[in-house]
Amino acid sequence: MEQTTYKIRITGVVQGVGFRPFIYNLATKYQLKGEVSNDSLGVLIMIDSDKKTLERFVKEIESDAPPLSCIESIMIEEIEKKSFDAFMIIQSSYHDKTNTLIPPDISICQACQRELFDKDNRRYLYPFITCTNCGVRYSIIKTLPYDRENTSMDKFKMCNACEKEYHDPTNRRYHAQPIGCWECGPTTNMRIDEAVKILEEGKILALKGVGGYHLLCDATNDEAVKLLRERKHRPSKPFAIMVKTLEEAKKLAKINPKEQTLLTSNKRPIVLLQAKPNTLSKYVAPHISKIGIFLPYTPLHLLVLEKCNRPLVATSANVTDEPIATNLESMQKLEGVYDALLDHDREIVNGCDDSVTMVVKNQTIMIRRARGYAPSAIKLPFKLDKKVLALGANQKNTIAIGFDNHVILSPHIGDLDTIESVGYFEKNIEILKRVYAFTPDIVACDKHPNYESTKYAKANFTNIKEIQHHYAHILSVMAEKGIKEKVLGVAFDGTGYGDDGTLWGGEFLVCDYTGYERVAHLKPFRLLGGARAIKEPRRVALSLLFDLYSEKVLQIQNPTTKAFSQKELAIHYKAWQKGLNAPLSSSMGRLFDAVASLTGICQEMSFEGESGMLLEEMYDKNITESYPIAIYDDEIDFLPMIEDIVNDKPKEAISKFFNTIVEIIIAIAGEYDLLLVLSGGVFQNRVLVELILEKIPDAIFPNEIPPNDGGVALGQVVANKPLFYVRFG
Ligand code: ZN
Ligand code: ZN
Ligand code: FE
Repeated sequence: MEQTTYKIRITGVVQGVGFRPFIYNLATKYQLKGEVSNDSLGVLIMIDSDKKTLERFVKEIESDAPPLSCIESIMIEEIEKKSFDAFMIIQSSYHDKTNTLIPPDISICQACQRELFDKDNRRYLYPFITCTNCGVRYSIIKTLPYDRENTSMDKFKMCNACEKEYHDPTNRRYHAQPIGCWECGPTTNMRIDEAVKILEEGKILALKGVGGYHLLCDATNDEAVKLLRERKHRPSKPFAIMVKTLEEAKKLAKINPKEQTLLTSNKRPIVLLQAKPNTLSKYVAPHISKIGIFLPYTPLHLLVLEKCNRPLVATSANVTDEPIATNLESMQKLEGVYDALLDHDREIVNGCDDSVTMVVKNQTIMIRRARGYAPSAIKLPFKLDKKVLALGANQKNTIAIGFDNHVILSPHIGDLDTIESVGYFEKNIEILKRVYAFTPDIVACDKHPNYESTKYAKANFTNIKEIQHHYAHILSVMAEKGIKEKVLGVAFDGTGYGDDGTLWGGEFLVCDYTGYERVAHLKPFRLLGGARAIKEPRRVALSLLFDLYSEKVLQIQNPTTKAFSQKELAIHYKAWQKGLNAPLSSSMGRLFDAVASLTGICQEMSFEGESGMLLEEMYDKNITESYPIAIYDDEIDFLPMIEDIVNDKPKEAISKFFNTIVEIIIAIAGEYDLLLVLSGGVFQNRVLVELILEKIPDAIFPNEIPPNDGGVALGQVVANKPLFYVRFG
């Protein structure tokens, strides 16, 4: 058949993922001649072929592309005839950084796992076995292009055997940058069986993972888990559990097919599951029936679990409120917390926590987006005309850069409450700027003047755009879902700075990319003690009781008033009257807290989100009633409901409260013929999301990015279209 030369251009995540050898092998299979190279736009192929073979060749590119790649487009063009002599991989010299996307760190692949436990393989039991289809990427990269000398593998000189594999296009390890073996690659500081002995003895083992260190202990041993809680000063926040296999996970929790897919995916997130009772130490997740489980994602983790053969508590090693420890220096601060340290000498360049997800009504809800997911690009439904750096919120911070039609969202950085975490935040900005050689035209931040991220923006940049917090929440979902039209956004969260200077958080916004209108919100109430009210549900509940009964509250006996002394009640009453250190808020998150206090479920929280989790436990599906609610103009008056809650039994009150919140959404959504988009930290509540999806099946929740403040940076990027305030009629 007649041969023509074709130029095939492939864009997407196609570099550093084994794409060129894949093309080489495919061309060899079809006996085609030509060349393949990387360039600024992705992968470029020139090939002599007849039309029919070309079609089959391209079809197979689409269907069999390397597991880590993600093709965005394939363009084919006939060019002047070249007549190649062979098929060759051309080493590229040209790199335009902003068009190449870095793949995230992913788990060990099946092929490597087989070799790891194969006695005849030269990498038998080698803790750092990897190939082009698996392993570390983001966490070891210093700069693009993704070549070995630009990673923390640069200090390991390949042995002859590894070198041969590395340069052989037919080998699974062709250009696998982290390649190594017993002879030449990274090594651990202690033997696996020594480390496992520590765990078997009920002690605490620190272990260096992909993006940071973990603390591990035997999850079936009460004393061991208690010891870890004491040493980590973490009295009750649930721990995540790592188990060897899916079968082991099924012994600990109920797992549906969607959850199974998540657990075993190469992203290997922590999945929050319904726990089976009495399988683990009661100290793992006290009073909570959900459990976070994940499967081992590196050969090192696999070797440890294979040897000790029991579920392990696996929690990030960090000092409270500080970022995950990524080097020995930060581990020194944790001395005394762990009994032994299983370390290795491959440097973590970029820290990255474990990701956390859950499945509700067959939808993935991302709780923390990090390892496995970040820094994958999010594709926008339009092109940005400027390069944008977005600095996110203050809690669960992430940052983002936006260019062209891509947004790169950093992994979870954390709460910016300590000097260390602000340092980590700054480091993450540097990482994205360095890796992508990125200079922003615009810097987007929150409107809250006291957010560390806002302060950083103001101190370091001049071209700033301040974006309202809840508007950013809704925009983040629109960006993820590629929604272009106007929507009704429901932003329910803890707190965010409102345009009127009060703290918002129970908001209904009609919005598009150019602006928003606040069409309804919770009636504002006082947060007694300001920031302290965030950790003490009883303060919010007391404030609502004052709104209802004023001074008479001092005579009322209920779980909330009983949580204070008479003297404290009197002091708070004065503060409420005068509005002293008692800012106004319309926060839905705080309303949930208030209900937890009034029903006696939780008065003071020992970790963020505790009240919501405890409320979930109390929800009874058989109670379908709700409380009446009045909506005046744009204000949702929930005080009559609070009065009913005070007089109802806890289980009834809590169940009806959940139902009422859904009724409020239904009522307001009914007034607008718009897509319903929901975001904000309150939607980490499984019961609430499930109820909403049952009653409003086409409600749109984010699935790729978190509904909590971890998604705000994405919204900030896309809010940087010419921003003028639009009033919708
Ligand atoms: Zn592999
Ligand atoms: Zn080697
Ligand atoms: Fe928020």
